[in-house]
Amino acid sequence: MPTVILGGGISGLTAAYYLLKKNCTSIALLEASNRFGGWIKSNKQKNDSIFEEGPRTIRPRGNPGINTLNLIDDLGLSENILPIKNDSAVARNRMIYAGGELHSLPNTFSSLLKVQKPFSKPLLMHLLQDLVTKPKIVKDESIYNFTRRRFGDEVAEYLISPLIRGICAGNAQEYF
Ligand SMILES: Cc1cc2nc3c(=O)[nH]c(=O)nc-3n(C[C@H](O)[C@H](O)[C@H](O)COP(=O)(O)OP(=O)(O)OC[C@H]3O[C@@H](n4cnc5c(N)ncnc54)[C@H](O)[C@@H]3O)c2cc1C
Repeated sequence: MPTVILGGGISGLTAAYYLLKKNCTSIALLEASNRFGGWIKSNKQKNDSIFEEGPRTIRPRGNPGINTLNLIDDLGLSENILPIKNDSAVARNRMIYAGGELHSLPNTFSSLLKVQKPFSKPLLMHLLQDLVTKPKIVKDESIYNFTRRRFGDEVAEYLISPLIRGICAGNAQEYF
């Protein structure tokens, strides 16, 4: 009787890997789509750059982090890791694509006080809007509408919507 793993994303593939390491040789890994990897989708472009459609970072902290790094090492992939230090420009800068252009998001206190595209006023003004927003009893509302009501259209559109799309591949306007 084989051990059956449902789904060939990183979880299923990792489960299969550890089972094999424990000498369990009768494994069936069932994948519904025509490829393994699940959300992990690395697309190599013509100029050799890699566009990640899904996850692209790991934050190896504590024992789970060590475990992940050991797994990467076991698979002979250590050379492929690009370490990013906290003070690196990549870690400090966040870009969003809005109105056909890339914009860097405010990332220092002083930048909260300046008008920075695509926002039409300093981000701090949007955040302060929360203090004057009157309480409202709502039965349920989407993350988008909640943010829009408390911080304004631009925060919902340029901060929260990309955040929900980028982390959860979800739609901030939907109800969860
Ligand atoms: C846009 C985006 C960016 C992300 N960025 C990061 C990041 O930078 N760092 C990070 O750590 N995490 C990130 N995440 C989260 C991370 O991608 C997921 O937590 C992880 O990929 C989940 O892996 P999984 O194997 O559990 O599930 P999935 O990747 O969803 O894989 C599940 C697999 O199961 C298959 N399946 C489903 N139902 C069945 C069925 N009935 N029978 C057979 N097969 C089935 C699916 O086709 C799929 O291949 C990101 C997620 C998204 C969407």
